[in-house]
Amino acid sequence: MKIGILGAGISGLSIARLLNNQYDVEILEKASIHGGIARTRDVNGIAYHTIGGHCFNSKHKDVLDFVFDNILPITEWNRIKRKSRIKFHNYEIDYPIEFSIRQIFENDKDLAQRITVDFFKAIDNGTYDNLKDWFLKKFGDTLAYEYFIPYNKKIWNRLPEEMDYSWVEDKLPVPNQESFFRGLINKSEDNMAHFEFYYPKSNNQNTFIDALAKDIIIHYNYEVESVNYNQISKKWHINNDKIYDIIINTTPINRFIATISNVPIDVQEAAKKLKVNGISNVLWKTKDTDKTWTYLPDSKYLFHRYIHIGSFFRPSNGYAISEVIGSHLVEEMIQSGRTDDFLIEPLDHNNSDMAYIVFDENYSSSMNIIREYLDKIGIYTLGRFGEWQYYNMDICIKKAIDMANSIKKEY
Ligand SMILES: Cc1cc2nc3c(=O)[nH]c(=O)nc-3n(C[C@H](O)[C@H](O)[C@H](O)COP(=O)(O)OP(=O)(O)OC[C@H]3O[C@@H](n4cnc5c(N)ncnc54)[C@H](O)[C@@H]3O)c2cc1C
Repeated sequence: MKIGILGAGISGLSIARLLNNQYDVEILEKASIHGGIARTRDVNGIAYHTIGGHCFNSKHKDVLDFVFDNILPITEWNRIKRKSRIKFHNYEIDYPIEFSIRQIFENDKDLAQRITVDFFKAIDNGTYDNLKDWFLKKFGDTLAYEYFIPYNKKIWNRLPEEMDYSWVEDKLPVPNQESFFRGLINKSEDNMAHFEFYYPKSNNQNTFIDALAKDIIIHYNYEVESVNYNQISKKWHINNDKIYDIIINTTPINRFIATISNVPIDVQEAAKKLKVNGISNVLWKTKDTDKTWTYLPDSKYLFHRYIHIGSFFRPSNGYAISEVIGSHLVEEMIQSGRTDDFLIEPLDHNNSDMAYIVFDENYSSSMNIIREYLDKIGIYTLGRFGEWQYYNMDICIKKAIDMANSIKKEY
């Protein structure tokens, strides 16, 4: 059986590796290299993540086993402790903020008291109108208005009251009354999945990506433009050129739908309603730091975070990537960065139109229509943009493991 995988990002490479032993597998990739948005660019010997920072970890044992037993042995990774800080008002506190109220108290007693009173006053009845309502009910008015609402407005480029909340629950540590109280009396604890993470000892994420691509047939510079199902041969035809029994899409689903022949109007319309935010960033030489991320919720800063990529390397050194949602001119980004003397010298920059899918009011209904249609015609779809989800690399791998298991059961 011949399987065609569309896209050689983390998702396409993972599912290819998982199916390669049992089936005739190949990948069609429009770029000249594999890795998708996780790939780094070399800048004077520094691995510049042109999108994001791409640290790896997972709470899923099967993902860790797949990566460390089959792809890149654990001995080839450094284990790094996350040290994230938030620039809050005119001081810095630990991330996540909800467990750092003690640190706010040391700087601003009145604000810390208001946050605490409102947190215990908030009534979470389990139903939420939108993302803003979710923040208000989970964290209380003061923390929501002082931090979550402005920060999320910045990172989504839209008002939280115009957004769905379904994606957020497993993304943020949400305190209950007991853990919030513990945070007040003890030193804050970072219990997030990525409180520690792995980064290749080579100091370059591409080592992992290249290991994932080993022994896979990849057709580079091959853009999928048309997808047809031939009723007689019962096979999928790509660009009237390549023929497969099964296809697995990992390319952006909104554009992919437009390549399939005879797509019903309601499915085409649903695909057109899907929204995604791009991202712009600058790689900087910076002062030395032991931080791994700095978050900048205040609207006076153009950037919403710095990823201290130099702290992912061993020995660590002063390099950071400053990020802003949307398309921004390099001059604007550099001018803004110059206001922070921590950022010493800009080294490179990048704009990408695909970074964060937007969970707006049309999200659920559009995705239901699309998923139902692809199920009906028998196309598999996988990955951050293939499933139009807020997936990290490990979840892409987890979904690839689950999909490979179900394909192996069926064929
Ligand atoms: C800002 C940011 C920071 C992030 N940080 C982290 C992090 O620290 N840790 C982590 O685990 N995850 C992180 N992620 C998430 C991670 O990048 C993704 O989960 C993962 O890389 C997605 O892989 P993918 O294969 O699903 O998609 P992609 O990487 O987008 O791969 C899709 C592939 O399809 C190809 N393609 C597109 N159209 C066509 C076509 N028509 N024909 C053929 N090929 C095509 C593309 O060229 C690409 O190679 C971050 C993401 C962002 C945006």
